[in-house]
Amino acid sequence: MEKIINRQWVLTSRPHGAATKENFELREVPVAEPRDGEVLIKTIYLSVDPYMRGRMNAGHSYAEPAQTGEVMLGRAVGKIVQSNSEGFEKGDVVVCGNGWQTYAIAKAESLRKLDLPPELLPAALGVLGMPGLTAWYGLLEIGKPKSGETVVVSGAAGAVGSVVGQIAKIHGCRTVGIAGTDEKVRWLTEELGFDAGLNYRTSPDLGAGVAAACPDGVDVYFDNVGGEVSASVLRSLNTFGRIAVCGQISTYDLDTPEPTEAILPLLLTRRALARGFIVGDHAEHFAKALGELRGWVEGGRLKHRETIIDGIEHAPEAFLGLFRGDNIGKQLVRVAEV
Ligand code: NAP
Repeated sequence: MEKIINRQWVLTSRPHGAATKENFELREVPVAEPRDGEVLIKTIYLSVDPYMRGRMNAGHSYAEPAQTGEVMLGRAVGKIVQSNSEGFEKGDVVVCGNGWQTYAIAKAESLRKLDLPPELLPAALGVLGMPGLTAWYGLLEIGKPKSGETVVVSGAAGAVGSVVGQIAKIHGCRTVGIAGTDEKVRWLTEELGFDAGLNYRTSPDLGAGVAAACPDGVDVYFDNVGGEVSASVLRSLNTFGRIAVCGQISTYDLDTPEPTEAILPLLLTRRALARGFIVGDHAEHFAKALGELRGWVEGGRLKHRETIIDGIEHAPEAFLGLFRGDNIGKQLVRVAEV
């Protein structure tokens, strides 16, 4: 077989403060031959995710640190180009862990074959993938919203947040989203059915804005960002409120995040529950959750959007854009045509 060249992004240095393009280097190496039980996969869509920022640090995060000189890990949708496994054939499309590279060899048992039409393949990394499962689990299993209650979500126009708000609507809740541009807020309220939206970057007093948007207080807060945004929401938290601590993106670039003692007296006085979670710990819910998410998508009740950048050479730019708020919905890199 003709030698295939693999283009791969490796981590070359660890950031202090915000990550930059200089932390990565694009290399070209020949692709090896898959062994028995392995397949060679061409990357079609690559997912870039906020958790990858934690991996760039040496210390403990919720994902294992990447080593310098190693290819950046990450989920992808890929097409099998060579199979030495009975379960897979050339041409099969799979969810895989190809990472930031154009090809990877994988063991068959690490793959999930996709039965989606081509136009839904990006969604396999968004609403019908890890971010959708995160929204489903955090909202329904931790937030436990009841019809008529008020749900607030931060990072609302992103991959997870946009799904959270819509599931809350499906469950009959008043839903308020917080995001970083007016365009995002309009998308939430005019297209996704959120009852209200707030732009945290331009709001003169976000706490007052949340209080006005939530006349009955906040029963469930789905936190994707932490920091000042969350402090503003928690002022309106109701007695017996629930906080699903999903992400803290506003702190990921800080070497030493601010202490947050203020949350503990609040939990006490409001008799509230705050629970952090990592979606990968809850695989027992995935089949049910994916079934519901797919049913809502196919029934037109759950909308989704992907922001797609073309070309593996732009993977760092797509990733860094998450921290500037460049994306609406799920951020992906299209590495090859389907
Ligand atoms: P995303 O929301 O699609 O993208 C990140 C968004 O965060 C940006 O678009 C930006 O939107 C916002 N943002 C960036 N910096 C910010 C800041 N300093 N303050 C406030 N907002 C900021 O990403 P995602 O994949 O859906 O992830 C959302 C959160 O969930 C992340 O914190 C992530 O780490 C977490 N997560 C956790 C799990 C889990 O298992 N616990 C799983 C998936 C994701 P704006 O324009 O609105 O600022």
